[in-house]
Amino acid sequence: MLADNVFKKIIDKQIPARLVHEDEQCLAFHDIGPKAPVHVLIIPRKEIRTHDDLQPEDAALVGHMHLIAVKLARDLGLHDGYRLVINCKERGGQTVPHLHMHLLGGRDLTWPPG
Ligand code: 5GP
Repeated sequence: MLADNVFKKIIDKQIPARLVHEDEQCLAFHDIGPKAPVHVLIIPRKEIRTHDDLQPEDAALVGHMHLIAVKLARDLGLHDGYRLVINCKERGGQTVPHLHMHLLGGRDLTWPPG
């Protein structure tokens, strides 16, 4: 079941988050339940529920989120590699209904994921 949209509340500064990046298009902050030594979430300010809801006009926004991931991986010392994950809808493991990219690193990440 997709939970309440806590990320909208983080965008609106109604609840706190440990921000590592903020610009006119997106925010990035540490995940509250980290699955790796580095676990950051990158989210658009625009309300997009899932990856499946992306539209052609969102192409530059998605590209921007990837470039922020590259910058943050560098800033956070993930020189040996990292993983980007987007869980989509319930079977994809998505629990918060606002598009988000996980940036995970700082340990060996196994494949395939569960
Ligand atoms: P999903 O399972 O939807 O792909 O990822 C949602 C992520 O959001 C989870 O890793 C979860 O730990 C994180 N999360 C849920 N609520 C909060 C919150 O209030 N603050 C932060 N920083 N992360 C949250």
